[in-house]
Amino acid sequence: MINRQRVVSEFMELVQISSPSRREAPVAQRLIPALEALGAHVEVDDAGARIGGDTGNVLARIPGTAPSAPPLLLCAHMDTVVPCQNIRPVAQGDVIKTDGTTILGGDDKAGIVAILESVRVARERRLPHGPVEILFTICEENGLLGAKNFDVTRLAARRGLVLDCDGVNELITRAPAANHVNFVVHGLEAHAGVCPEQGISAIKVAAEAIARMRLGRIDDETTANLGMIEGGLATNIVPNRVTVKGETRSRSLAKLDEQTEHMQRCFDEAAARHRVIVEGREHTARIEARVARGYERLDLGDDTPIVRLMTRAAERLRRTFRTRATGGGCDANVFAGRGLEVANLGCGMRAIHTVSEWVDVNDIVATAELLVALLQVNAEN
Ligand SMILES: [Zn+2]
Repeated sequence: MINRQRVVSEFMELVQISSPSRREAPVAQRLIPALEALGAHVEVDDAGARIGGDTGNVLARIPGTAPSAPPLLLCAHMDTVVPCQNIRPVAQGDVIKTDGTTILGGDDKAGIVAILESVRVARERRLPHGPVEILFTICEENGLLGAKNFDVTRLAARRGLVLDCDGVNELITRAPAANHVNFVVHGLEAHAGVCPEQGISAIKVAAEAIARMRLGRIDDETTANLGMIEGGLATNIVPNRVTVKGETRSRSLAKLDEQTEHMQRCFDEAAARHRVIVEGREHTARIEARVARGYERLDLGDDTPIVRLMTRAAERLRRTFRTRATGGGCDANVFAGRGLEVANLGCGMRAIHTVSEWVDVNDIVATAELLVALLQVNAEN
C-alpha cells in the first residue's frame, strides 16, 4: 500500500535540506508544493516574524471525502538540532544514517514523510477520510516556540497526533509539565585580599543552595536539573552576582509545584545564612527568583477518543501497539495546554540529537500505514 521508494527518496531529499531552528524556510518551500499536490489549501502564519525566524508555521487544510468524519490534526516539526549543515545520508539496506559528522534530521523529518505519504496513499486509493489539517511547525527544538506562537483557533480539528518520538507502534499519551527556573544570587563585592570579610560571595551562597538541593531523578514522574551557571568577574573580587538556570518537570502538577518551591527554598535559606556589617550597615545575600511554565503536561487516558482511534487503527493492521509515558516535552504538550486532544506517535527516529542518528525505512513505512488506518477508522466513526 505504501510506496516505499517514494518514502525513501522524499526522506533522503528532506534531510539534505538544512533546517536549524529559525531557518526552516528552505524546507518549508519544499513542503508547500508537496502539500498543494495533496489538494491542500496552504497558509503560513506569522510565528516566524514574531520569533525572528525566516518562515512561519505551515498549515495545510485538506478537505474531507467522508461526509461526517471529524477533522484530524497531523503535526510534525520542520526544524532540527545542530550540527545540520551538509547532511550526507548514507543508506545501508533498510537503515539510513549519517556520515558521522552531522545529525540526520529524522527528528522530525521521519514524521513529516510519514504524514505526507499517508495522505497521498489515502487520496490515490480514494479511501474516504475526514478533513485533515497538516501542521508543520517551526522552532520545536528551541522551546516549542512555533507551537506556542500558533493560533489553535485556526484549526477545525479538536484532536490528532504529533509525530515526534522515537520508536514505532507506540503512542505517547503522558508527558510532564515543565517549569523553567532562574535564580540570580546577589552578594556583596569586596577586595578578595584586602577585606574579604566585607563581602558576601554569591558563588558560595549558590554552592550551598545547590549542595542541599534534590536534583536529577526525583521520582518516577519528576526530574530536576540546573543546567547553566554564570557569575563572578575576577579571582581577586568577592563575587556579588551569580545566575543559575534550570528546570523541573513532572507529570504531577502537585509534585511540580513542590519541587519548584524546594529549589527556591534552598536558595532563600542559603542566602539567609550570609550577612555582613560594613561601616555599621547590614548587608544580606538576596535571591531574585523567576519561575515560568515551559509547557503543560500531556495526560490522555487510554479511553480518550484519539487513543481509542489509534488503538483501533493498530488492531486493523494486527500490530502490537502500546501507549506509554515519557519525560520529554514536544508540541503536543503545547496543544494539550490549549485544550486539544493530541498524542505523540513514534515515527522511527533513533539516537536523536546525536551524530549517530539513524532511521529504519521499515519504521517510517509502518508509521505511514498506521496513519492510513487511522484516517480510515476515523472516517467510519
Ligand atoms: Zn522532535
